[in-house]
Amino acid sequence: MKKRLLLACAVFLTGTAAWAQQAPATQNANTRFEQLGPVLPTPNTFRTASGAPGKDYFQNRADYDIKVELDDAQQKIIGSETVTYYNNSTDVLPYIWLQLDQNLFAKGSTGSVTRTGGVNENGMSFSQLQNLTSVRERSQQQASDKYGYTITAVTDGKTRQPLKYTINQTMMRIELPTPLRPGGNYSFNVDWNYFVTEYYGRSGMEFFAKDGNYNYFIAHWFPRLCAYNDVTGWQNKQFLGQGEFTLIFGNYKAAITVPADFVVGATGECQNYKQVLNATQQKRLAQAANSKTPVVIVTQDEAVAAEKTKAGGTTAKKTWVYKADNVRDFAFAASRKFIWDAMQTDVYGDGRKIWSMSFYPKEGNPLWGQYSTRVVEHTLKSYGNRTIKYPYPVAISCHATPGGGMEYPMISFNGGRPDADGTYSEQVKYGMIGVIIHEVGHNFFPMIVNSDERQWTWMDEGLNTFCQYLAEKEWDYNYPARRGEPRDIVDYMKSDKSVLSPIMTSSDNVISLGPNAYAKPATALNILRETVMGRELFDYAFKEYARRWAFKSPEPADFFRTMEDASGVDLDWFWKGWFYGVEPVDQDLVEVDWYQADNLDPVVAKAAAREAAQKRLNTISRQRDAATKDQTVVAQDSTMNDFYNNYDPYAVTEADKKRYQDYLATLTDDERKTLETSSKTNYYTLSLKNKGGVPMPVIIRMQFEDGTDSVARFPAEIWRFNDVQVKKVIATSKKVTQWTLDPYQEIADIDTENNSFPRVSQPTRFQLFKQRGNPYAPQGPNPMQQQRQATGATPPARQGSGRN
Ligand SMILES: [Zn+2]
Repeated sequence: MKKRLLLACAVFLTGTAAWAQQAPATQNANTRFEQLGPVLPTPNTFRTASGAPGKDYFQNRADYDIKVELDDAQQKIIGSETVTYYNNSTDVLPYIWLQLDQNLFAKGSTGSVTRTGGVNENGMSFSQLQNLTSVRERSQQQASDKYGYTITAVTDGKTRQPLKYTINQTMMRIELPTPLRPGGNYSFNVDWNYFVTEYYGRSGMEFFAKDGNYNYFIAHWFPRLCAYNDVTGWQNKQFLGQGEFTLIFGNYKAAITVPADFVVGATGECQNYKQVLNATQQKRLAQAANSKTPVVIVTQDEAVAAEKTKAGGTTAKKTWVYKADNVRDFAFAASRKFIWDAMQTDVYGDGRKIWSMSFYPKEGNPLWGQYSTRVVEHTLKSYGNRTIKYPYPVAISCHATPGGGMEYPMISFNGGRPDADGTYSEQVKYGMIGVIIHEVGHNFFPMIVNSDERQWTWMDEGLNTFCQYLAEKEWDYNYPARRGEPRDIVDYMKSDKSVLSPIMTSSDNVISLGPNAYAKPATALNILRETVMGRELFDYAFKEYARRWAFKSPEPADFFRTMEDASGVDLDWFWKGWFYGVEPVDQDLVEVDWYQADNLDPVVAKAAAREAAQKRLNTISRQRDAATKDQTVVAQDSTMNDFYNNYDPYAVTEADKKRYQDYLATLTDDERKTLETSSKTNYYTLSLKNKGGVPMPVIIRMQFEDGTDSVARFPAEIWRFNDVQVKKVIATSKKVTQWTLDPYQEIADIDTENNSFPRVSQPTRFQLFKQRGNPYAPQGPNPMQQQRQATGATPPARQGSGRN
């Protein structure tokens, strides 16, 4: 193409030259596109450069045989376990570490005494105030030294001889009689007891004053093996309350003794329904085994009768025996208040049936009976399709608390409670469905894809919240999803950098856990899927990650590498921006210059020149002169016809025509065609600035003069030579009247005011802001969102009942 044709004549120029003056295209302006390199750990034989487990990958295993009694009179757990630990590493282990999570509630625990923060003079909730002082005191019960483990025996599995052990807060080291060799195993026994705390967001009990009964949600209740692996050695970082649990797989047998009229739900399959259920209940269970809709095993009437009579008392007991294979933890729920419904369905259409079940007190109805079990099945289906099929025989949702939720293998404790009269808002309903999806979904991350929760909250919460967002939309197309949409992370990303931590921050140090470890990574994955990679490439790679790491323990680099390895998309810039940084996205469409090519045809070119000259001459002085002078003289002036000669510099001469013909003769056919189209084309040069810091794809909508529009998309690599500012030419036959960046709000741009050219003012912003501060404003279409906005952009770190 003849360059001079394009440059020959800029017929119209918009904007100013301000952009060009702001910053020179500087050296090293593209560091954001350099590879992560040494930021990631060096690949090795345990973990490959492709993000897969390496040839020497190993994980240790612990099998548990547990006997436990739940003492309802004292609200106490009394347990004993035989643990068989398998050393699959190539290292000799002189000691082993166990986790004593209940010690978080013991007096003086690091987690409780290191709470920080001040009293908020604008008002605080009771739980916020209690959180400021300590974890333990949240429980309004008797003695201050009451909580935490009492370990009564630690003995050798064969000799029954006492073993030497040391308790360091929430961790216990057992010294082995002889070092455990690679490939060897060792059995030992631990006896313990502790008083159950009030429900604190993950486990505990709820007391119902009206009928005098407790619901128990028992978790982190037995001394559990720490992980020993190629990354941390022993992962024995203390439990401070925020960073969750790093665990290993094993087979469990648990005999759970409870008052005779209690109903139990637990990780795994019950081995002795015949002994613990009556004939009617067994019949209903058999019915449920072949039902596509929930069948009630214990009805509300039966549960209400039980809570009144307390027939089990404190002496009559029953033992429920459970088995669970290849799980990383074990939890159970028990109460005489439980209603129980279940169905066993062919979730994936492959002939294998899976139980979906729910346990809930009457206080959860009518909501729980209607939705819970169906939501469990939906979650297994939705998550299974994007990751791996749910491998366990049962999935349970228990109603534990008014809000929040918590996950364990095959069982979860969830919030969402109607008012006392059985009515509920849409907010409560969607909140309940969302939390069930989330907690049941945790079966996939981290119960199966077993990431290190004590170190990386986002690896399970972020991936799970992303899948939750998709499952919610599959449940109900109009589901008011709380997290996942890019625009919903904007308030958080606007926060001052002093209160932002990168996603890649240790679990216990993350500020604003909800937005940071749940919402931001979920949003990032949604953006990867919709805007950066596309659904097909993303879904394949995400599934591959789940397939590679199911029943294994991945690290962040394994995820980052797998997503690239399986898709062929370089994402280092994305991980850098979204996971290792705190910069927001803010694209600025600084200006648009509009060019039209001169095709050198003298007929066109001279007419355009005449028009331009006339415009130039139409000064204010001439206009005033015209009012006082003879019009014809002015008219002659304005066409540049000199009054004294008739020379017209804009007339097309024979010489002009010949020169043009001669020029055309030098062109090839192809060049002539280009010349013709270019003269009918509008060339727009967009000046774009990456103001926020995170480079992102550029998506721009053009609204044309004729009322139609079109969207152009450019991958993030548009920034690879200069990640601060770029120019981009867009050619179009139609004239563009309005340019808009990110028209579908898909990149979480924190400032949309600079997204349009010419600038479009946004009068709605004031109204939005006004609504946020007004508690009496009418409910919008998204009650969940309204609630979040009411609590502010950066809610405090999730503690207590808010956690899920
Ligand atoms: Zn969660």
